[in-house]
Amino acid sequence: LGTGLKDAMKKLAGKTVIDRAAVEELVKDLQRVLLQSDVNVKLVMGLSKSIKERALDEEPPKGMNVREHVLRIVYQELVKLMGKECEVTLGPQTILMAGLQGSGKTTTTGKLARFFQKKGLRVGVICADVFRPGAYDQLKTLCNKVNVPCYGEPAETDAVKIVKAGIKELKNTEVLLIDTQGRHALEDSLIDEIIELNNITKATHRWLVIDAALGQQAREQAARFHEAISIDGVIITKMDGTAKGGGALSAVAETGSGIVFIGSGETIEDLERFDPDRFISRLLGMGDLRALMERAEEAMGEDDFDVNAMMKGKFTLRDMYKQLESLKKMGPLKQVMSMLPLGGLEIPQDAFDVTGKKMERYKVIMDSMTNAELDNPSMISGSRVQRISTGAGATPEEVRELLKYYKTMQRTLKGFKGMGGGKFNMQRMM
Ligand code: GDP
Ligand code: MG
Repeated sequence: LGTGLKDAMKKLAGKTVIDRAAVEELVKDLQRVLLQSDVNVKLVMGLSKSIKERALDEEPPKGMNVREHVLRIVYQELVKLMGKECEVTLGPQTILMAGLQGSGKTTTTGKLARFFQKKGLRVGVICADVFRPGAYDQLKTLCNKVNVPCYGEPAETDAVKIVKAGIKELKNTEVLLIDTQGRHALEDSLIDEIIELNNITKATHRWLVIDAALGQQAREQAARFHEAISIDGVIITKMDGTAKGGGALSAVAETGSGIVFIGSGETIEDLERFDPDRFISRLLGMGDLRALMERAEEAMGEDDFDVNAMMKGKFTLRDMYKQLESLKKMGPLKQVMSMLPLGGLEIPQDAFDVTGKKMERYKVIMDSMTNAELDNPSMISGSRVQRISTGAGATPEEVRELLKYYKTMQRTLKGFKGMGGGKFNMQRMM
Protein backbone atom coordinates (compact mmCIF):
# COMPACT_ATOMS: atom_id res chain seq x y z
CA LEU A 1 0.00 0.00 0.00
CA GLY A 2 1.67 3.16 -1.21
CA THR A 3 5.29 4.04 -0.95
CA GLY A 4 7.15 5.22 2.11
CA LEU A 5 8.57 8.64 2.66
CA LYS A 6 11.94 7.23 1.77
CA ASP A 7 10.70 6.98 -1.80
CA ALA A 8 9.34 10.51 -1.67
CA MET A 9 12.74 11.72 -0.48
CA LYS A 10 14.42 9.75 -3.23
CA LYS A 11 12.19 11.42 -5.77
CA LEU A 12 13.22 14.78 -4.39
CA ALA A 13 16.88 13.86 -4.40
CA GLY A 14 16.62 12.91 -8.06
CA LYS A 15 15.33 16.31 -9.09
CA THR A 16 17.68 18.95 -10.39
CA VAL A 17 15.41 21.89 -9.58
CA ILE A 18 13.34 22.22 -6.43
CA ASP A 19 10.38 24.40 -7.30
CA ARG A 20 6.90 24.82 -5.85
CA ALA A 21 5.65 21.71 -7.64
CA ALA A 22 8.46 19.58 -6.24
CA VAL A 23 7.81 20.78 -2.69
CA GLU A 24 4.10 20.19 -3.08
CA GLU A 25 4.70 16.68 -4.31
CA LEU A 26 6.93 15.89 -1.37
CA VAL A 27 4.40 17.32 1.08
CA LYS A 28 1.63 15.27 -0.48
CA ASP A 29 3.68 12.08 -0.10
CA LEU A 30 4.50 13.02 3.47
CA GLN A 31 0.83 13.61 4.25
CA ARG A 32 -0.13 10.21 2.94
CA VAL A 33 2.51 8.44 5.01
CA LEU A 34 1.62 10.31 8.18
CA LEU A 35 -2.11 9.74 7.80
CA GLN A 36 -1.46 6.05 7.26
CA SER A 37 0.48 6.08 10.53
CA ASP A 38 -2.58 7.47 12.32
CA VAL A 39 -1.36 10.99 12.78
CA ASN A 40 -4.26 13.38 13.22
CA VAL A 41 -5.41 15.23 10.07
CA LYS A 42 -5.16 18.64 11.73
CA LEU A 43 -1.60 17.98 12.82
CA VAL A 44 -0.70 16.78 9.34
CA MET A 45 -2.19 19.86 7.74
CA GLY A 46 -0.33 22.16 10.13
CA LEU A 47 2.92 20.39 9.41
CA SER A 48 2.35 20.57 5.66
CA LYS A 49 1.71 24.28 5.83
CA SER A 50 4.88 24.96 7.83
CA ILE A 51 7.02 22.87 5.51
CA LYS A 52 5.63 24.53 2.39
CA GLU A 53 6.01 28.04 3.78
CA ARG A 54 9.50 27.49 5.05
CA ALA A 55 10.71 25.59 2.00
CA LEU A 56 9.54 28.31 -0.35
CA ASP A 57 10.33 31.38 1.78
CA GLU A 58 13.52 30.64 3.64
CA GLU A 59 16.85 31.04 1.94
CA PRO A 60 19.06 27.96 2.19
CA PRO A 61 21.93 28.54 4.62
CA LYS A 62 25.34 29.11 3.02
CA GLY A 63 26.81 25.95 1.57
CA MET A 64 23.55 24.08 1.53
CA ASN A 65 21.73 23.47 -1.70
CA VAL A 66 17.97 23.81 -2.03
CA ARG A 67 17.31 20.10 -1.87
CA GLU A 68 19.32 19.64 1.31
CA HIS A 69 17.59 22.67 2.73
CA VAL A 70 14.12 21.23 2.09
CA LEU A 71 14.99 17.85 3.60
CA ARG A 72 16.31 19.58 6.67
CA ILE A 73 13.10 21.57 7.06
CA VAL A 74 11.03 18.39 6.79
CA TYR A 75 13.10 16.80 9.51
CA GLN A 76 12.92 19.82 11.81
CA GLU A 77 9.17 20.12 11.46
CA LEU A 78 8.72 16.43 12.22
CA VAL A 79 10.75 16.81 15.39
CA LYS A 80 8.49 19.69 16.42
CA LEU A 81 5.50 17.39 16.06
CA MET A 82 6.98 15.11 18.74
CA GLY A 83 6.37 17.74 21.40
CA LYS A 84 8.58 19.00 24.17
CA GLU A 85 11.59 17.11 25.33
CA CYS A 86 10.71 15.38 28.60
CA GLU A 87 13.51 15.12 31.09
CA VAL A 88 13.33 12.31 33.62
CA THR A 89 14.40 13.42 37.09
CA LEU A 90 16.58 10.91 38.90
CA GLY A 91 15.56 11.99 42.37
CA PRO A 92 12.63 11.92 44.79
CA GLN A 93 9.29 12.14 43.03
CA THR A 94 5.74 10.84 42.94
CA ILE A 95 4.33 9.67 39.63
CA LEU A 96 0.62 9.16 39.03
CA MET A 97 -0.21 6.83 36.16
CA ALA A 98 -3.24 7.75 34.06
CA GLY A 99 -4.90 6.05 31.12
CA LEU A 100 -7.73 3.78 30.10
CA GLN A 101 -7.96 0.10 30.94
CA GLY A 102 -5.76 -2.06 28.76
CA SER A 103 -3.47 0.80 27.77
CA GLY A 104 -0.60 -0.80 29.67
CA LYS A 105 -0.54 1.21 32.92
CA THR A 106 0.17 -1.68 35.28
CA THR A 107 2.83 -3.21 33.05
CA THR A 108 4.45 0.20 32.59
CA THR A 109 4.35 0.86 36.34
CA GLY A 110 6.39 -2.32 36.82
CA LYS A 111 8.79 -1.25 34.08
CA LEU A 112 9.22 2.19 35.64
CA ALA A 113 9.88 0.63 39.04
CA ARG A 114 12.66 -1.33 37.39
CA PHE A 115 13.96 1.73 35.54
CA PHE A 116 14.32 3.87 38.67
CA GLN A 117 15.64 0.98 40.70
CA LYS A 118 18.42 0.49 38.17
CA LYS A 119 19.30 4.16 38.63
CA GLY A 120 19.96 3.40 42.28
CA LEU A 121 16.77 4.90 43.70
CA ARG A 122 14.53 3.40 46.37
CA VAL A 123 11.22 2.71 44.64
CA GLY A 124 7.77 1.94 46.04
CA VAL A 125 4.54 1.15 44.21
CA ILE A 126 0.90 1.55 45.21
CA CYS A 127 -1.96 -0.26 43.53
CA ALA A 128 -4.94 2.11 43.45
CA ASP A 129 -6.94 0.06 40.96
CA VAL A 130 -10.04 -1.08 42.83
CA PHE A 131 -11.95 -1.79 39.65
CA ARG A 132 -10.16 -4.61 37.93
CA PRO A 133 -10.21 -7.95 39.75
CA GLY A 134 -6.68 -9.22 40.26
CA ALA A 135 -5.16 -5.78 39.70
CA TYR A 136 -3.15 -5.99 42.91
CA ASP A 137 -1.87 -9.51 42.17
CA GLN A 138 -0.76 -8.44 38.72
CA LEU A 139 1.22 -5.49 40.04
CA LYS A 140 2.57 -7.40 43.03
CA THR A 141 3.88 -10.19 40.77
CA LEU A 142 5.70 -7.63 38.64
CA CYS A 143 7.17 -5.88 41.68
CA ASN A 144 8.25 -9.13 43.31
CA LYS A 145 10.33 -9.94 40.25
CA VAL A 146 12.53 -6.96 40.95
CA ASN A 147 12.15 -6.77 44.72
CA VAL A 148 10.26 -3.52 44.81
CA PRO A 149 7.71 -3.08 47.64
CA CYS A 150 4.12 -2.94 46.44
CA TYR A 151 1.27 -1.70 48.61
CA GLY A 152 -2.34 -2.69 48.01
CA GLU A 153 -5.55 -3.81 49.72
CA PRO A 154 -7.39 -6.20 47.39
CA ALA A 155 -10.59 -6.12 49.50
CA GLU A 156 -10.82 -2.32 49.84
CA THR A 157 -13.05 -0.45 47.37
CA ASP A 158 -11.94 3.09 48.14
CA ALA A 159 -8.83 3.99 46.15
CA VAL A 160 -8.21 7.15 48.14
CA LYS A 161 -8.05 5.19 51.41
CA ILE A 162 -5.56 2.73 49.93
CA VAL A 163 -3.31 5.46 48.63
CA LYS A 164 -3.32 7.34 51.95
CA ALA A 165 -2.30 4.16 53.78
CA GLY A 166 0.23 3.32 51.07
CA ILE A 167 1.96 6.69 51.35
CA LYS A 168 2.44 6.09 55.09
CA GLU A 169 3.64 2.55 54.57
CA LEU A 170 6.12 3.52 51.86
CA LYS A 171 7.37 6.79 53.36
CA ASN A 172 11.02 5.74 52.98
CA THR A 173 10.93 5.50 49.24
CA GLU A 174 12.38 8.09 46.89
CA VAL A 175 10.30 7.30 43.84
CA LEU A 176 6.65 6.52 44.48
CA LEU A 177 4.62 5.12 41.60
CA ILE A 178 0.84 5.00 41.75
CA ASP A 179 -1.02 2.68 39.40
CA THR A 180 -4.65 3.67 38.92
CA GLN A 181 -7.74 2.11 37.48
CA GLY A 182 -8.74 2.70 33.90
CA ARG A 183 -12.21 1.32 33.16
CA HIS A 184 -13.56 1.11 29.66
CA ALA A 185 -14.60 4.65 29.07
CA LEU A 186 -14.02 8.03 30.56
CA GLU A 187 -16.71 8.11 33.23
CA ASP A 188 -17.04 11.08 35.52
CA SER A 189 -16.42 8.95 38.61
CA LEU A 190 -13.09 7.83 37.19
CA ILE A 191 -12.08 11.43 36.53
CA ASP A 192 -13.22 12.54 40.01
CA GLU A 193 -11.17 9.79 41.57
CA ILE A 194 -7.98 10.61 39.71
CA ILE A 195 -8.34 14.29 40.61
CA GLU A 196 -8.62 13.28 44.27
CA LEU A 197 -5.60 10.97 44.00
CA ASN A 198 -3.61 13.75 42.39
CA ASN A 199 -4.48 16.06 45.27
CA ILE A 200 -3.65 13.72 48.13
CA THR A 201 -0.41 12.40 46.60
CA LYS A 202 0.77 15.86 45.51
CA ALA A 203 2.13 14.02 42.49
CA THR A 204 5.15 15.60 40.86
CA HIS A 205 4.29 13.94 37.55
CA ARG A 206 1.10 12.77 35.90
CA TRP A 207 1.92 10.53 33.00
CA LEU A 208 -0.64 9.41 30.47
CA VAL A 209 -0.24 5.88 29.13
CA ILE A 210 -1.42 5.42 25.54
CA ASP A 211 -1.56 2.29 23.41
CA ALA A 212 0.36 2.84 20.15
CA ALA A 213 -2.56 1.34 18.24
CA LEU A 214 -5.09 3.76 19.66
CA GLY A 215 -5.34 6.13 16.73
CA GLN A 216 -7.66 9.09 16.83
CA GLN A 217 -9.36 8.42 20.17
CA ALA A 218 -6.07 9.32 21.80
CA ARG A 219 -6.87 12.99 21.39
CA GLU A 220 -10.14 12.87 23.32
CA GLN A 221 -8.70 10.78 26.14
CA ALA A 222 -5.76 13.06 26.50
CA ALA A 223 -8.02 16.10 26.59
CA ARG A 224 -10.14 14.68 29.43
CA PHE A 225 -7.21 13.60 31.57
CA HIS A 226 -5.34 16.80 30.87
CA GLU A 227 -8.27 18.93 31.89
CA ALA A 228 -8.58 16.95 35.12
CA ILE A 229 -5.00 16.57 36.32
CA SER A 230 -2.74 18.40 33.85
CA ILE A 231 -0.76 15.66 32.12
CA ASP A 232 2.96 16.41 31.90
CA GLY A 233 4.22 13.42 29.95
CA VAL A 234 3.00 10.69 27.61
CA ILE A 235 4.10 7.06 27.52
CA ILE A 236 3.37 5.12 24.34
CA THR A 237 3.07 1.39 24.88
CA LYS A 238 3.09 -1.61 22.52
CA MET A 239 5.44 -0.02 20.04
CA ASP A 240 6.73 -3.54 19.43
CA GLY A 241 3.47 -4.26 17.64
CA THR A 242 2.52 -3.21 14.14
CA ALA A 243 1.14 0.21 15.05
CA LYS A 244 3.36 3.17 14.39
CA GLY A 245 2.11 5.33 17.23
CA GLY A 246 0.95 8.26 15.15
CA GLY A 247 -2.26 8.58 17.18
CA ALA A 248 -0.31 9.24 20.34
CA LEU A 249 1.06 12.40 18.77
CA SER A 250 -2.42 13.86 19.13
CA ALA A 251 -2.16 13.22 22.86
CA VAL A 252 1.15 15.03 22.91
CA ALA A 253 -0.29 18.00 21.04
CA GLU A 254 -3.41 18.04 23.22
CA THR A 255 -1.47 18.12 26.48
CA GLY A 256 1.36 20.34 25.29
CA SER A 257 3.74 17.81 26.80
CA GLY A 258 6.15 15.34 25.25
CA ILE A 259 6.79 11.62 25.10
CA VAL A 260 8.71 10.33 28.10
CA PHE A 261 9.02 6.62 27.46
CA ILE A 262 8.19 3.98 24.88
CA GLY A 263 6.97 0.51 25.87
CA SER A 264 8.43 -2.06 23.53
CA GLY A 265 7.43 -5.46 24.88
CA GLU A 266 5.75 -7.41 27.63
CA THR A 267 8.70 -7.96 29.94
CA ILE A 268 9.74 -5.61 32.70
CA GLU A 269 12.88 -4.57 30.83
CA ASP A 270 11.03 -3.46 27.69
CA LEU A 271 11.01 0.25 28.36
CA GLU A 272 12.97 2.79 26.34
CA ARG A 273 13.57 6.48 26.78
CA PHE A 274 11.90 8.34 23.95
CA ASP A 275 14.17 9.11 21.02
CA PRO A 276 12.59 11.43 18.41
CA ASP A 277 14.86 10.22 15.61
CA ARG A 278 13.96 6.63 16.12
CA PHE A 279 10.29 7.48 16.44
CA ILE A 280 10.26 9.52 13.24
CA SER A 281 12.07 6.79 11.38
CA ARG A 282 9.45 4.32 12.50
CA LEU A 283 6.60 6.61 11.72
CA LEU A 284 7.86 7.19 8.21
CA GLY A 285 9.29 3.77 7.56
CA MET A 286 12.83 4.81 6.83
CA GLY A 287 16.23 4.26 8.30
CA ASP A 288 17.74 6.28 11.07
CA LEU A 289 18.75 9.12 8.80
CA ARG A 290 19.58 11.76 11.30
CA ALA A 291 21.92 9.68 13.41
CA LEU A 292 23.56 8.46 10.27
CA MET A 293 24.14 11.97 8.97
CA GLU A 294 25.73 12.96 12.24
CA ARG A 295 28.03 10.01 12.12
CA ALA A 296 28.92 10.79 8.53
CA GLU A 297 29.67 14.37 9.44
CA GLU A 298 31.88 13.39 12.33
CA ALA A 299 33.76 10.78 10.39
CA MET A 300 34.26 12.98 7.39
CA GLY A 301 35.06 16.18 9.20
CA GLU A 302 38.20 14.66 10.59
CA ASP A 303 40.22 14.42 7.40
CA ASP A 304 40.15 16.26 4.15
CA PHE A 305 37.87 13.80 2.47
CA ASP A 306 36.71 15.69 -0.56
CA VAL A 307 33.38 14.28 -1.63
CA ASN A 308 32.90 16.92 -4.27
CA ALA A 309 36.23 16.34 -5.98
CA MET A 310 35.42 12.66 -5.95
CA MET A 311 32.05 13.29 -7.53
CA LYS A 312 33.76 15.19 -10.31
CA GLY A 313 35.44 11.94 -11.25
CA LYS A 314 38.81 12.44 -9.64
CA PHE A 315 39.16 9.34 -7.56
CA THR A 316 42.55 7.82 -6.93
CA LEU A 317 43.71 5.00 -4.70
CA ARG A 318 44.76 7.68 -2.25
CA ASP A 319 41.15 8.88 -2.10
CA MET A 320 40.01 5.35 -1.57
CA TYR A 321 42.44 4.98 1.31
CA LYS A 322 40.98 8.04 3.02
CA GLN A 323 37.50 6.87 2.24
CA LEU A 324 38.10 3.49 3.82
CA GLU A 325 39.29 5.22 6.97
CA SER A 326 36.18 7.40 7.11
CA LEU A 327 33.87 4.52 6.49
CA LYS A 328 35.42 2.49 9.23
CA LYS A 329 34.11 5.09 11.62
CA MET A 330 30.67 5.14 10.02
CA GLY A 331 29.85 1.48 9.89
CA PRO A 332 29.14 -0.83 6.98
CA LEU A 333 29.00 1.15 3.77
CA LYS A 334 26.19 -0.90 2.37
CA GLN A 335 24.00 0.01 5.32
CA VAL A 336 24.99 3.66 5.02
CA MET A 337 24.09 3.76 1.35
CA SER A 338 20.76 2.03 1.85
CA MET A 339 19.68 4.88 4.09
CA LEU A 340 20.53 7.72 1.77
CA PRO A 341 17.93 9.17 -0.55
CA LEU A 342 19.88 8.47 -3.70
CA GLY A 343 17.31 9.20 -6.33
CA GLY A 344 16.79 5.66 -7.52
CA LEU A 345 20.47 5.19 -8.25
CA GLU A 346 21.40 1.56 -8.73
CA ILE A 347 24.41 0.51 -6.72
CA PRO A 348 26.10 -2.75 -7.66
CA GLN A 349 25.64 -5.22 -4.82
CA ASP A 350 29.30 -6.17 -4.59
CA ALA A 351 30.51 -2.58 -4.63
CA PHE A 352 30.10 -2.19 -0.94
CA ASP A 353 30.57 -5.71 0.28
CA VAL A 354 33.77 -4.95 2.10
CA THR A 355 34.24 -6.11 5.61
CA GLY A 356 36.23 -4.18 8.16
CA LYS A 357 38.90 -6.87 8.10
CA LYS A 358 39.29 -6.58 4.37
CA MET A 359 39.50 -2.81 4.60
CA GLU A 360 42.43 -3.25 6.95
CA ARG A 361 44.13 -5.59 4.49
CA TYR A 362 43.58 -3.12 1.66
CA LYS A 363 45.18 -0.39 3.68
CA VAL A 364 48.23 -2.51 4.44
CA ILE A 365 48.58 -3.24 0.72
CA MET A 366 48.23 0.43 -0.20
CA ASP A 367 50.93 1.27 2.33
CA SER A 368 53.31 -0.72 0.15
CA MET A 369 52.55 1.36 -2.92
CA THR A 370 54.52 4.37 -4.08
CA ASN A 371 52.96 7.83 -4.24
CA ALA A 372 52.98 7.65 -8.01
CA GLU A 373 51.05 4.39 -7.90
CA LEU A 374 48.51 5.77 -5.45
CA ASP A 375 47.86 8.79 -7.63
CA ASN A 376 47.80 6.88 -10.86
CA PRO A 377 46.62 3.31 -10.26
CA SER A 378 46.57 2.44 -13.96
CA MET A 379 50.38 2.18 -13.91
CA ILE A 380 50.23 -0.83 -11.59
CA SER A 381 51.28 -3.66 -13.86
CA GLY A 382 52.34 -7.29 -13.29
CA SER A 383 55.81 -6.67 -11.85
CA ARG A 384 54.49 -3.89 -9.63
CA VAL A 385 51.74 -6.17 -8.35
CA GLN A 386 54.45 -8.66 -7.43
CA ARG A 387 56.55 -6.04 -5.61
CA ILE A 388 53.56 -4.61 -3.72
CA SER A 389 52.29 -8.01 -2.61
CA THR A 390 55.72 -9.03 -1.32
CA GLY A 391 56.09 -5.74 0.54
CA ALA A 392 52.68 -6.08 2.16
CA GLY A 393 52.97 -9.76 2.97
CA ALA A 394 50.00 -10.38 0.69
CA THR A 395 49.36 -12.54 -2.35
CA PRO A 396 49.26 -11.05 -5.86
CA GLU A 397 45.59 -12.13 -6.00
CA GLU A 398 44.82 -9.86 -3.05
CA VAL A 399 46.46 -6.92 -4.78
CA ARG A 400 44.47 -7.59 -7.94
CA GLU A 401 41.28 -7.88 -5.91
CA LEU A 402 42.01 -4.49 -4.37
CA LEU A 403 42.47 -2.98 -7.82
CA LYS A 404 39.23 -4.51 -8.96
CA TYR A 405 37.43 -3.05 -5.93
CA TYR A 406 38.94 0.32 -6.74
CA LYS A 407 37.58 0.13 -10.28
CA THR A 408 34.09 -0.75 -9.07
CA MET A 409 34.13 2.19 -6.69
CA GLN A 410 35.30 4.51 -9.42
CA ARG A 411 32.50 3.38 -11.71
CA THR A 412 29.91 3.79 -8.98
CA LEU A 413 31.07 7.29 -8.20
CA LYS A 414 30.72 8.23 -11.84
CA GLY A 415 27.09 7.22 -11.39
CA PHE A 416 26.72 9.66 -8.49
CA LYS A 417 28.16 12.39 -10.63
CA GLY A 418 25.51 11.72 -13.23
CA MET A 419 22.64 12.05 -10.82
CA GLY A 420 23.65 15.01 -8.74
CA GLY A 421 25.26 17.36 -11.23
CA GLY A 422 28.26 17.37 -8.91
CA LYS A 423 26.14 18.84 -6.17
CA PHE A 424 25.41 15.68 -4.25
CA ASN A 425 26.85 16.04 -0.82
CA MET A 426 26.56 13.20 1.57
CA GLN A 427 27.56 15.25 4.58
CA ARG A 428 24.81 17.77 4.30
CA MET A 429 21.93 15.73 3.04
CA MET A 430 19.98 16.43 6.26
P1 GDP B 1 -3.72 -1.54 32.18
O1 GDP B 1 -5.11 -2.07 32.14
O2 GDP B 1 -3.64 -0.16 31.62
O3 GDP B 1 -3.09 -1.65 33.51
O4 GDP B 1 -2.89 -2.45 31.17
P2 GDP B 1 -1.93 -3.69 31.47
O5 GDP B 1 -0.65 -3.22 32.04
O6 GDP B 1 -2.67 -4.71 32.27
O7 GDP B 1 -1.63 -4.19 30.00
C1 GDP B 1 -2.62 -4.70 29.13
C2 GDP B 1 -1.98 -5.70 28.19
O8 GDP B 1 -1.03 -5.05 27.35
C3 GDP B 1 -1.23 -6.79 28.89
O9 GDP B 1 -1.45 -8.01 28.25
C4 GDP B 1 0.25 -6.39 28.77
O10 GDP B 1 1.11 -7.49 28.78
C5 GDP B 1 0.22 -5.70 27.44
N1 GDP B 1 1.29 -4.72 27.29
C6 GDP B 1 1.55 -3.62 28.04
N2 GDP B 1 2.59 -2.92 27.57
C7 GDP B 1 3.04 -3.59 26.48
C8 GDP B 1 4.10 -3.37 25.52
O11 GDP B 1 4.86 -2.40 25.56
N3 GDP B 1 4.22 -4.29 24.54
C9 GDP B 1 3.38 -5.37 24.44
N4 GDP B 1 3.59 -6.22 23.44
N5 GDP B 1 2.39 -5.59 25.31
C10 GDP B 1 2.22 -4.73 26.31
MG1 MG C 1 -3.96 -2.09 35.32
